[in-house]
Amino acid sequence: MIPQGHLPVVPPEQVEAEKVLFPEVNDLMGRLHFSTSDGRIWLDDQRMLLVHAKALGMLRRDMIELLGLDVARGFMTRMGYYAGVADAQLARKVRPKTSIRDMFVVGPQMHCLEGIGISEAVRIECDVERGIHYGEFIWTSPVEDEEHIRHFSIGTEPACWMQIGYASGFSSEFMGRQVLYREVECQSMGHSVCRIIGKLVEEWGPEAAEDLRYMMPETLQMGVPPNVVRPACGVGQPGAEQIPTDMPVGMSPSFNSVMHLVRRVAPTQATVLFLGESGVGKEVFSRTLHRLSSRADKPFVAVNCAAIPEQLIESELFGVERGAYTGALQSRLGRFERADGGTLFLDEIGTLSASAQGKLLRALQEGEIERLGDSQTRKVDVRVIAATNVDLRDEVKAGRFREDLFFRLNVFPVRITPLRERREDIPLLMTHFLSKFNARHGRRLTGFTQRAVDAMLSYNWPGNIREMENVIERGVILAPEGGAIDAPHLFTSGERFTEQRFTINKDGKLVAMDPSVFVTELTQDREVERVSRRVSNLLLDDHDDCDKVSLDEIETLLLKRAIERAQGNVAAAARLLGITRPQMVYRLKSRGIINEGE
Ligand SMILES: [Zn+2]
Repeated sequence: MIPQGHLPVVPPEQVEAEKVLFPEVNDLMGRLHFSTSDGRIWLDDQRMLLVHAKALGMLRRDMIELLGLDVARGFMTRMGYYAGVADAQLARKVRPKTSIRDMFVVGPQMHCLEGIGISEAVRIECDVERGIHYGEFIWTSPVEDEEHIRHFSIGTEPACWMQIGYASGFSSEFMGRQVLYREVECQSMGHSVCRIIGKLVEEWGPEAAEDLRYMMPETLQMGVPPNVVRPACGVGQPGAEQIPTDMPVGMSPSFNSVMHLVRRVAPTQATVLFLGESGVGKEVFSRTLHRLSSRADKPFVAVNCAAIPEQLIESELFGVERGAYTGALQSRLGRFERADGGTLFLDEIGTLSASAQGKLLRALQEGEIERLGDSQTRKVDVRVIAATNVDLRDEVKAGRFREDLFFRLNVFPVRITPLRERREDIPLLMTHFLSKFNARHGRRLTGFTQRAVDAMLSYNWPGNIREMENVIERGVILAPEGGAIDAPHLFTSGERFTEQRFTINKDGKLVAMDPSVFVTELTQDREVERVSRRVSNLLLDDHDDCDKVSLDEIETLLLKRAIERAQGNVAAAARLLGITRPQMVYRLKSRGIINEGE
């Protein structure tokens, strides 16, 4: 149940503060369309639903009675959060040229338009760049209170759950920072109006963890509310508690379902297979799984199979006995033995050689390994977590991966959604990485500019969370001390913007763009034209053009093109060129197309 007595007391003088006037609501109303011919209601490009308030009240009551107050509150809060995120996206579109405040009050105005209740602003301080957010609103006759009181009468706890979720979701999306609204007075508690206050999560005290729990239950069940106890620029702040920076962060439905699976499987000994694109955080989830398991105090050993040359992978995994080959002067433990009692994480499992696959299968089935050049078998107690960004079924079909090993690994597959399909996690991740890199680099950046937030939210993130982490680290380093990270600090290496409405032009201005035009493609197209002209000259024996054509240049171009076609997926790009992924990675690295360690 919700602990009582921790709500902040509002000093009376704030109650009398001047009212904030909202702009006309016509621009928003103009976005609402009833399309009777096909049974749809549209709010801009979002399909809407006209729901009976009483039906919502009944659903709410049933949830409370069947699932308990806590669970029901969580569901309602998150439903509101998603709606708030969607409306914040609308706000950017509808009022892009007005003041930040006019853009921000789309939230309370939509709240009114969508029939939730009347919102009156008591105080709004909203500065995206300086990372300032304070919002105080009064709600009159909100629909949730009406329904709550109808079924449960006046109680001791606030009841505007969906609406608090909405305000938090809207503001977080708007700020690109995690904002939490709390209801400090509520009609369901007998107050004459509901009063809500919103601040950046880190500016609330520890009591915020209670309320945050309803918005992001899976992250918070880790027992470490992100950023709650840590100041935004937590450099050297006394008492700022150290929070592991490698824990998964998110609140989207797909994030929650992954965390649910992780939590389910963690206490067992089952082998787990993480699936998903590069950079979605497979290792982070694996570490979390280990931390939640009974092996938590034993080693977690991670191996990226693609990063180790084929001829070394077996000795790395299973160890070497002295004299196994010339130069093996002493015996060496493999990763299996080092992980004994704990967890071994094998990333990019699809790149293992046939012989290593056989040994891995034996280790999984028999729990024993043999060092290279050793006749003795050794028992190991290791839980294996594997991960891959390729389709192992395809690899099996192509004869590159053992079917029996695939079935052995595929006991408990967990698919992690790419970031572009869970955009509501972006503001949370931005806050998380900003704190992490502020601390790491000893900087005190306040947040992101409005156009940086726009760019982050509209970018397609082909490299997923790892790419975002790199982009924010770059931004933290480039932005002026004490200021905000701007879009040009983030997107400096020709990132392709796909599904978005904005791009950054040469002057660093964010401008609306035709989604089919990409800066990098333009330059590549010129490169393609030049090289292909020379190739055809050579092949067709046309000596008019005496340009030389370099094999190296053609290969570089093909590699880049394949990576682009495969949307950054290296394995898929390798398939396009009929080479293996490790070969592809080697070529990409040797040409500096990707960096070492990627
Ligand atoms: Zn209320």
